[in-house]
This record gives sequence, C-alpha cells and structure tokens, in this order.
Amino acid sequence: MKKLLSVVLSASLLGLALVGTGCGEKKELVMATNAEFPPYEYHDGDAIVGIDAEIAQAIADEMGRTLVIEDMAFDSIITAVQTGKADMGVAGMTITEDRLENVDFSTPYATAAQVIIVKDDSDIASPDDLAGKTIGVQLGTTGDIYAEEIENASIEKYNKGFEAVQALTQGKVDAVIIDNEPAKVFVSQNEGIKILDEAYTYEEYAIAVKKGNTELLNQINAAIEKLQESGKLQEIVDKYIVAE
Ligand code: GLN
Repeated sequence: MKKLLSVVLSASLLGLALVGTGCGEKKELVMATNAEFPPYEYHDGDAIVGIDAEIAQAIADEMGRTLVIEDMAFDSIITAVQTGKADMGVAGMTITEDRLENVDFSTPYATAAQVIIVKDDSDIASPDDLAGKTIGVQLGTTGDIYAEEIENASIEKYNKGFEAVQALTQGKVDAVIIDNEPAKVFVSQNEGIKILDEAYTYEEYAIAVKKGNTELLNQINAAIEKLQESGKLQEIVDKYIVAE
C-alpha cells in the first residue's frame, strides 16, 4: 500500500512537473535566414550573430517567445515562410513586388543599396559599363534579379555572396552586384578590389511573414516600432556598422 501510494504520488508529481515545464516553456519564434551575409547574419563559431539575429532576438523578447534560427540557402527562405517551416524570414531581405506576391513584409527596418564591386584596375567605372560583362551574384538575390536586366551580360550565380567576390578576385567574373554592407566586409577581407561610388539601386530590408498572418505581422511591426523609438535598433546597428 505504501509502495503503491508512493508510485501514485511520484507519478502525479511527474505529471505536475511535465505540466509545469509545459507552462514555463515559451513558444518558439522560428527565423529563417542565410548566415552568409555579414554584418546582418553570419557565423561566429557555433553561433549565428549579426544585426538581423539581434533584431530578431529583441522582437522575440518583446513577444515573450524563444528565438530559434534556421540557417538555409537564401532562395529557400520564402518557401520556408510560406510552408510554415519558419515564422519569419529575417535575412537582409529586400522588399520587391515579386516577393510581395508570395509573402507579407513588415515595416522596413533598414535601407540598403546594391553596389558594384570590381578589381582596382577594372575598366568598369559605373553601372552603365556593365553591359556585355560577366557578373557574379548570389543566387536569388536582388543583385541576381538586376544583373539579369543588364544588356548582353552573362551572369554567374553563387550560393554565397563571398563566393561571387572570390570569383572576382580569381578573374572569373568582371564585377559583382551585391548589398552594400556585405560588400564592405568582403572588400575589406580581399586585396585588389573596390566598390564603385555609384550604387546600382537603393532598396529597403524588411521581415517576411506568411501571407495573411496579420497577427504575427502586427506583433512584429509593434516590436520594430518600439525598438526604433527606444533607440535599441540603432544601438544594434551601431554595434556592427561603424559610421564612416
Ligand atoms: N537584399 C538582397 C535580397 O533581398 C540580398 C539578401 C541576402 O543575400 N541575404 O535579395
């Protein structure tokens, strides 16, 4: 009898403990990204760090949820959001008309530019000189989309932005079209290449959520607004981007 009672007791205690952790555990907020895009998202040892990782963490904190980061190819992020594999895409992702057909975007949290990287001794001096050239881009990015519009250009598509930059240093491509902040990082890591003064285009980054998920979108927008007003967003940016 005594033994039975203790079994029943421990079973119910175990049950309570399980219920307890169930209540205490916060709901996950899954972020899809491509951690090859410094200073927005990149690997630092085992961790994925950067501006987007910290903004997403701050948003999760605001929402009382646990941030989980899923690293994947850039061109898989929209599908991950559409299928619910991830709650949001945070990947220095530019708002475009095409993407708006597949996902909803938050209010923008950053402005960016597509810039052109060339070798120091290149004859390419402005976007107009790109016609007929071989251009390296990261697959599925806006750089890729813009390069496709350039007259007679042949486009080499790489999975990672730095692979496109490597191809440039190896003479396999004549220029790379890529976002300005990663461009600065990659150029600082490689000798003999430079960013042209004239940008290709200007654009805005926002967070992608599943189409019609207004509840999450409103929560994300409210969190972004709060982070902007409190100065926390600028603080995060300043930690990774040193003003010139
Ligand atoms: N801003 C670009 C885009 O949205 C590139 C983003 C990235 O490579 N992470 O296509």
